[in-house]
This record gives sequence, C-alpha cells and structure tokens, in this order.
Amino acid sequence: MKRLVVFLLLILLPVVAALSFSQSRSFIFDSLGRFEKDKPEITLEGVPASVGRSGFKLAAKASDAGAGITHIAIEMRDGDKVTPLGEWKSDGSAKLGNAMAEAEITEAMLEELSSDVVELRVTASDRAFISNGEEKLAQVKVDLKKPYLSVIPDQQNVTQGGAGMVLFEAGDDSQFTSFVRIGEMKFPAHPLRAGDTRQFAALFAVPRLFDSAVDAAEVVVRDVAGNETARRFPLRVKKVNWPEDSITLSKNFVEDKIISYLAPEYYESLENTSAVKSDERKAMRARLRSEDEASYISSFRDVNEKYRRALGVKLVEISASSDPEFLWDSSFAKPMKGAITGRFGEERDYHYQSQIAGYSLHEGLDIASLQGAAVYSTNKGKVLYAGSLGIYGNAVVVDHGRGLSTLYGHLSRIDCNVGDVVDTTTQIAASGATGLAGGDHLHFEMRIAGVPVTPYEWLDYQWIEDHVLAKLKPVEGQING
Ligand SMILES: [Zn+2]
Repeated sequence: MKRLVVFLLLILLPVVAALSFSQSRSFIFDSLGRFEKDKPEITLEGVPASVGRSGFKLAAKASDAGAGITHIAIEMRDGDKVTPLGEWKSDGSAKLGNAMAEAEITEAMLEELSSDVVELRVTASDRAFISNGEEKLAQVKVDLKKPYLSVIPDQQNVTQGGAGMVLFEAGDDSQFTSFVRIGEMKFPAHPLRAGDTRQFAALFAVPRLFDSAVDAAEVVVRDVAGNETARRFPLRVKKVNWPEDSITLSKNFVEDKIISYLAPEYYESLENTSAVKSDERKAMRARLRSEDEASYISSFRDVNEKYRRALGVKLVEISASSDPEFLWDSSFAKPMKGAITGRFGEERDYHYQSQIAGYSLHEGLDIASLQGAAVYSTNKGKVLYAGSLGIYGNAVVVDHGRGLSTLYGHLSRIDCNVGDVVDTTTQIAASGATGLAGGDHLHFEMRIAGVPVTPYEWLDYQWIEDHVLAKLKPVEGQING
C-alpha cells in the first residue's frame, strides 16, 4: 500500500508540477520523456586491440533519446583495485541526448598493472525519474616490449639525390612493420629474401639537399602495439652541385597550357585535359586574355606549385603497391632514343615578360627526339598506372619492386594497361607534349617510395652491382647484436 502511494506520487507530482507551469509545454514533454525505461547506448572510440608504451586516449560516448544522459564514468580495474579515469556529469536541468567522457591510459599506469591486460569499465546513466544504467567492458592487451632491431654495419656511400639500401634484422612477439625514416620521408622495408621473417632490406632515396650534419637516417621497427625501436645508420654523402636553368614562358604557352588546369574539376580529380570541354576552354582562354599580366603569372604559379605538391602525394600512394621483390635482373636502359635536354636536379626558374613566375626542381630526365617517338620500359616491371596525371599529362608508372618505380610523362599516346608485365622490348607509349610541356619530349623519372632519385645511377649497371645486388647476397654471420 505504502509503495503504491510512493509510486503514484512519483507519477503525479511531476505532472502536477508541469501543469502548474502550463505555459511551458516543453517542460511537460520533457517530464513525460523522463518516464522512459530505455538504457543509454555506449560506444567506445580509440580503444586499440593492444597497447605499447605510447599508451592511448579513449572516448566513451553515450546517447539516450528519451530522458537524456546525466552521467558517464570510465574506470580501470586491476584485480580488486579500481582506478577512476574519467567522468562526465550534467546538472540535470536540461535534456542532453548525447554526451562524452574522455580518459588517457599512460605508460606509468601500464607499468603498475599486475597483469598484461587493461580492463576498462564504462558506465552511463540517464535522466529518467527511475534512472536507467548501462555498462560496457573492454580489454586491451599490454605489450611494453620494444621490437628487436640490429642494423647490419655497412658504410653507406651515397650521393645527394641518389639511392641507398640498408639491411637489418628485426623481430617481435607480435606483428610489426619496418622502414627507413629520413626526415618526414618513409621508405618501407621488404624481406631480404622471399618469405624471410628475420632479415630485411630497404631501398631509400637520399634527399636532394641531404646534409649529414643535420639530417638523420634511421631504421624503424614498429609493432602493432605501437612500440618502436629506431637505430641511426651512418651515411657518407657525396654533395652535388645542381645545374640551373632558366625558362622563359611565352604568352601562348600560358594561354594554351595553364587554362587546361584551372577548371575546378581538374583540380579535384587530376583528370585529363580533354575533360575540359573545348567550349569551356575557349571561354577560359577569353577570360584569361581579358585579365592583366599579373594574373598570368599567378595562374602559372598556382598550377606549377599546387600540382607538383599534389602529384608528389599521389606518387607516394601509387608506389605503396610496389612488389616486395625486385622484378628485374638485368640492366636499365634509356627508355627512348634521343638527346638529353633536361637533367635531374635542375633548379629551374620561370620568367614571364621579365618577371619571375615561379620555380621548380626537375625530378627526372628529359629526352627529345622525333614527334611521337617510341617509348620503351626501362627494365622489366609491371604497369602500376597508365593515364592522365596532372602536369605530367598522359603518363605511365612502371613498378620494378621494393618501392622502385619509373615514370614516363607528357606522352601523346599510351600503349599499355595497368597490370601489364613489360620489359625493354615493350613499347609502352609514344612521346608527346601533354601536360605542362613546351614541346614533344619524354620526361623520365625514377622514384623510390614515391621520392625522385637520379636515374643515372640505375642506368649504370656497375653502380647497381656495387650498391644493390652485392648487398642482397646472403648475409649470415654479419649481424651484430
Ligand atoms: Zn622533364
């Protein structure tokens, strides 16, 4: 009897209270909503399967459509010990359908655990008159052991803008990835031999302006829990005096070439110049003509700089699917007959009517011959990309394995498809002047993990034998602990 009275009071009091504020309809709806019996829903974000010394941050989100959330708590349990990690509370005055509590698990907390598992408990309660509660449990495996790494001692004689290869031994109880890190650049390592789980090799590019006094080159091994072991390795770097070139832009060049890139859809997709319809091109040409000289320069600068940056990112992506093994076993050949008209590493400045219109670094070789000359693959490989590629115009990218790829740009015609296996006898394309090219020529690049390197090294078989093939022979007994 007593219970029934309490229950009726619980129901009636808010209704009476609400009615006495009859001008406040939302208050009535809110009060009615607070009779619900649905539990809040909890979702966890940022909780990994395993954690290393770097720890992790997590967010516990709770939602409750009926009465709204009043409380979320995150705690860690270790046997009988309970440690509160994070909390969110409302004052209950208004309905909040969604709320979030955050917490951080630090290295110090992980070190104090009595087991190798973090047990998390998250609770949430709603604002119903008889509050509904929910809980969620999560477990995270703790792995504080750093991966094993031993770099094979070897004097690396490399050249600015050139390539190098480092060998190392790595291991861990869990899965790991390994790579060479130079500044912001990452060069993935691959098993030394097919199926090798202990010894690895990584080809890397020596940045064009590498300075051993400032820049570090290191091998990094990182396990799934985020534990990282890094070891520097010495590089003896030969400096290069880079050639310079000055290019004068004609009015026709800016009008003809730059407008193809200024259509917004072109920016979006790095699509073909033919994607810009001819009437649109006419309209853009007229618009460009009606503008003053300064806009010609800013248009050129825009295309020259933005596109180069976007392409750099895209080529790193393309090279990520490189084969883990070398796909070639013979010399690299010049991909087209003709004279070298542009060198690797050239620092180019562009002039338009006596004003500086921009700069670029030439990232490959230019070879010029007859119009539409035959272009062959420089060596055995597999076509990774064939199509339009921003300022390179029509382009082909061939994978040669272990992150090494070649790029053929400004093509008038493409004669291969993605996935084709090609070699020095395969005509893959015909030279042209598509993209940002002033005349018919082949622009040829070599890249490692998307970073350009001088093709001269790879066109010299002796260099390949000394710097690459000699290292790939079995290295048993050379590992230092
Ligand atoms: Zn070029």
